[in-house]
Amino acid sequence: MNPFTYQRPETDDAAVQAAATHSAKFLGGGTNLVDLMRYGVESPTALIDVNHLHLTEVTRASSGATTIGASVRNSDLANHPIIREHYPLLSHALLSGASPQLRNMATTAGNLLQRTRCYYFMDTAFPACNKRNPGSGCAAIKGFNRIHAILGSSDACIATNPSDMNVAMAALDASVHVEGPGGKPFPGLATVAIQQARHVAKAIKAGSAGASTSFKYLDKGALAVVGRGKAVCEIRGHKLSGRPAFFTYLTVHMYYLSGGGPGHRVKVLIDWISARLGDPQNQVIDGGLADPVER
Ligand SMILES: Cc1cc2nc3c(=O)[nH]c(=O)nc-3n(C[C@H](O)[C@H](O)[C@H](O)COP(=O)(O)OP(=O)(O)OC[C@H]3O[C@@H](n4cnc5c(N)ncnc54)[C@H](O)[C@@H]3O)c2cc1C
Ligand code: SF4
Repeated sequence: MNPFTYQRPETDDAAVQAAATHSAKFLGGGTNLVDLMRYGVESPTALIDVNHLHLTEVTRASSGATTIGASVRNSDLANHPIIREHYPLLSHALLSGASPQLRNMATTAGNLLQRTRCYYFMDTAFPACNKRNPGSGCAAIKGFNRIHAILGSSDACIATNPSDMNVAMAALDASVHVEGPGGKPFPGLATVAIQQARHVAKAIKAGSAGASTSFKYLDKGALAVVGRGKAVCEIRGHKLSGRPAFFTYLTVHMYYLSGGGPGHRVKVLIDWISARLGDPQNQVIDGGLADPVER
């Protein structure tokens, strides 16, 4: 293991400042980070312990918005009355992961940021892993890849996100609030993930050419289906509703459809058109609300 310093700042601001050094890492439960340090995959020069910073509350505002502290342990979150009552999906997802001992240590932030469990990423004996060593290739693509991605992969990496909690958070479209020098709330996890995935692919290409890139999230707007053939949308400050918004929704959805190449888009388009012309019960595009259908 490489030498590193251990720091326990007294305030959030001091922790943010301490982490500003090039390769410092925050320490949550340590169940992922310390393992990766032992394996030589992570080698931070400083560990910034944030466990004592009172980030352990789960609160629900009168608007219904629920806030979860970064240091809330996975067991506490899964069993919290607010989560059990309002987000049973999240509670079940947490309880389906790891073991009781691990869940008692693991924190919400640590779970969110845990690294992939791709065998080649976790074992430095394998030289080819773009995620660990940009530009080195991906040993998993032609290797042992039973736990890897079927959808949403790229030529550079086919790793999956290892977190059960993150799947539920993404399905609930949770947002992450980041404290930092320019810290701002992050938007929904799924939208960030899509942009991050593209960024990672570009960064790997740039890394192999010796350049580096920085990630910037762009908030391009929001879309939601609110009934059969109806939607609302706001794109770059422009608002639409009803049928025009619905067609905008379809166009944007088609544009961002991932995987399968152009043929996949054509197939989805044909499916949608035949669904609209056929059985009215098939006319819901996704999990949005549909007008009730009379039988
Ligand atoms: C044997 C085993 C089995 C497992 N099985 C499962 C499973 O079935 N399902 C599942 O979902 N997971 C599983 N896990 C993974 C487990 O859920 C994670 O190890 C755990 O959630 C990580 O949380 P932590 O607090 O210990 O994070 P740490 O290891 O402390 O940190 C992980 C990352 O988060 C960062 N971080 C931590 N806190 C903060 C913060 N406040 N702000 C910013 N960054 C922060 C760290 O710097 C680090 O990069 C398993 C782990 C093990 C060891
Ligand atoms: S799938 Fe990703 S993490 Fe695994 S070897 Fe390939 S590049 Fe590395």
